Amino acid sequence: MSTDTPGSQSSLHRANLERVLRAVRMAGSLTQAEIARGTGLSAATVSNIVRELKESGTVVVADTSSGGRRARSVSLSGDAGIVVGIDFGHTHLRVAVGNLAHRVLAEESAPIDVDVSAQQGFDRAEAMVERLLTQAGFRSDKVIGVGLGVPGPIDVETGALGSTAILPGWTGIAPGRELAERLGMPVHVDNDANLGALGELVWGAGRGLSDLAYIKVASGVGAGLVVNGQIYRGPGGTAGEIGHITLDEAGPVCRCGNRGCLETFVGSRYLLSLLAPTLGQDLSLPRVVELAQQGDLGCRRVIADAGRQIGTGVATLCNLLNPRRVILGGDLAEAGELVLAPIRDSVARYAIPSAARQLSVVPGTLGGRAEVLGALALVMSEMGESGALGRA
Ligand SMILES: [Zn+2]
Repeated sequence: MSTDTPGSQSSLHRANLERVLRAVRMAGSLTQAEIARGTGLSAATVSNIVRELKESGTVVVADTSSGGRRARSVSLSGDAGIVVGIDFGHTHLRVAVGNLAHRVLAEESAPIDVDVSAQQGFDRAEAMVERLLTQAGFRSDKVIGVGLGVPGPIDVETGALGSTAILPGWTGIAPGRELAERLGMPVHVDNDANLGALGELVWGAGRGLSDLAYIKVASGVGAGLVVNGQIYRGPGGTAGEIGHITLDEAGPVCRCGNRGCLETFVGSRYLLSLLAPTLGQDLSLPRVVELAQQGDLGCRRVIADAGRQIGTGVATLCNLLNPRRVILGGDLAEAGELVLAPIRDSVARYAIPSAARQLSVVPGTLGGRAEVLGALALVMSEMGESGALGRA
């Protein structure tokens, strides 16, 4: 490899510039020393790049203190570009508009009908994006990209939702392409668990970490895996399907076609069916959590048992990936210690002690906003250097 020709010098410089920009984008704000540590670049190189980015108006530099010493913090300029996040859930649609300095400028959520057709869902999302951009005071040509979250695996090759998706009217549709055409903006798509992981990594309980798993327990169960600071998706985009770990070969048939998957023991439909004989059919998971917190013994037992089962999945994950933190999200996470303590018990019982010792199991801090904030972070993580500079 030659580094002495002008061409490769400049491509090296561009690569370094992109490393600095990416580090700042994902952290929100960093001191120059932190940038040097995070990127492995020398202090002098970082200092030169920061000066160049400041002159082009891409970053702003402010005086701050770090460990009692004066330092200079670098963040992206608030008007360097706008990002949009859209989160389609089983029963909700959330949209957020933010800037590259990690400020959320406008946000809205609305309930949607499970049986809504994809086209109606896109109509509503389009209208919400336009309304929020107006509210935030930006025109659509300021938008660098849109992050879109969907509640199911996305086929990497076709961009279509897999057949196991929880929104039945969406099977076979490529939501990213559809929305990109409607909005005239680049759209990045990912599943809800990966976005929850990104949201908590950038804004919530995973800040400052590079290895974590976000486990979303709602209608289904999925995990978003962050390895070395990046979402790990696997070649087919299905990494993190923790809900389909087999717990009982002779157990109930799962929607994936196997038997006794973790999801069949902790998904909301199963938990509600356990309580239907005593509490009736008209129950929801948030209501079960509420009753448990008020002391209902049946609800407490069902949540604790679900926690133990989730914990066996977390123990497997812990042995394979050795994450620093597991963050629980989704409806069941609202139960707090009622579900977390049994998860920790199972991890202590089934995981390798050295891996379990380093692990903390905590609730997410973003609640239902984790995915839509993760959709904003997805754009920041996927955009290239041209995206940050071209619109500056
Ligand atoms: Zn399954």
